[in-house]
Amino acid sequence: MVDMGMLKIRTRFPPSPTGFLHIGGARTALFNWLFSRQQGGVFVLRIEDTDQVRSTDEATRAILEGLEWLGLDWDEGPFFQSQRTEIYRQFISDLLDQGKAYYCHCSPELLETKREKARAEGRKPKYDGTCREKNLGPGPQAVVRLKNPLTGSTGFNDLIRGPILFSNEEMDDLVLARSDGSPTYHLAVVVDDITMEITHIIRGDDHLNNTPRQIQIYKALGRPLPLFGHVPMILGPDKTRLSKRHGATSVLAYKEMGFLPQALVNYLVRLGWAHGDEEIFSRREMIEKFSLAQVGKSAGVFNQEKLLWLNSHYIKESDDRELAGLLAPFLQGKGFRDLDLDYVARCAATLKIRSKTLVEMADAADFYLKEEVDYQAEAVKKFFSPQAVPWMEAVVESLDYLGDWNEPALEIAIGRLIDRTGATMKQIAPPLRLALTGKTASPGLFEVMAALGQERTLKRLNRALIFIKGL
Ligand code: GLU
Repeated sequence: MVDMGMLKIRTRFPPSPTGFLHIGGARTALFNWLFSRQQGGVFVLRIEDTDQVRSTDEATRAILEGLEWLGLDWDEGPFFQSQRTEIYRQFISDLLDQGKAYYCHCSPELLETKREKARAEGRKPKYDGTCREKNLGPGPQAVVRLKNPLTGSTGFNDLIRGPILFSNEEMDDLVLARSDGSPTYHLAVVVDDITMEITHIIRGDDHLNNTPRQIQIYKALGRPLPLFGHVPMILGPDKTRLSKRHGATSVLAYKEMGFLPQALVNYLVRLGWAHGDEEIFSRREMIEKFSLAQVGKSAGVFNQEKLLWLNSHYIKESDDRELAGLLAPFLQGKGFRDLDLDYVARCAATLKIRSKTLVEMADAADFYLKEEVDYQAEAVKKFFSPQAVPWMEAVVESLDYLGDWNEPALEIAIGRLIDRTGATMKQIAPPLRLALTGKTASPGLFEVMAALGQERTLKRLNRALIFIKGL
């Protein structure tokens, strides 16, 4: 790891609240969080809401909720750029005082005409420096520009991509303050990263072109550079940038689809980072093993199947009672109120090896929670025959007296009944299952009975008997 001497590692996640927390943003946040946790550092959350038209409180709330759901807790913040205008103004005025920045009075119309001309002539549309040496003062339409070096190059050693060099000739005299005095994105980011003492800037490589521009602001301010690491993008299966066309991209949409936060976190950490062939990482292992040097340079491809696989894994691994808590909102969404979480935990235990998501599990749990199950019509014709009545009555009779209500005890009781009556399990299981679940497929019969408990089981069997007799 980089030897930062006595310096405390500080990372940040600075989302713009113009939309929900995107999968890609969540992964960037996760990498920053992991790195700071591993290094005993500080993780700062900053909301970049300078774009007042597109920023909304609702998006801010959704981002915070997404991070909280994923368990990516921050140590400082959230700071809001919209509340830091005075700080930016001070930095801009210092740069002006030191001659590192200047007022530019070129009108937007004039600039646009020049840009068009450059494009038509096949040149890069770049500010031509008209006001650069004029020493102009403020004015109604004036913006503040950085006096960028005209020759040479700007380089840095990217933590992920290695040495990177940009030619200064390629770079514009960046606007730092708009004509209304408000700071631009680049200025605000650099001032924040300086004042928040960020040591490592880990962000998506869509920001790679911004880095040399921002480095020039650090230089103009005479401040030491942080380290930069640019994480490759996430692509959809068709190798284009992950977007809505590929399915859900919002973190909270995955919550609603019944994913466990551990599964999504585990999936995201592996999207771009590898540690041998290992796929499953507990939070502790992730913190221990994560390394920026092992983040690959090529883009990761989002694979929903693998995420589902991880989700089933974490569902299986979950403690039943914890699972009941996670499942409860989904059951409530289906109209089941006043849930008995002990009962839900027993039901969940029988469903967890069969469910890829909590939504699937809630659907599968339906029959457990309904007061009265609906019998599938086809199955009624096939299994609720008059011959089923005596067996079912015998089952009711033997289960009525059963003292211990658990799987092994139920298996023994039904086994005895089979011996006594000469019936086979194949004959008696389908009508029993239909009576208890309304369906022909369900978790194992004894598992279901054990989960339902004695009272519910007997009630359902008696109701089925009345139903069959009435056919
Ligand atoms: N607000 C920027 C974004 O959401 C982040 C910029 C940065 O990481 O420096 O893309």
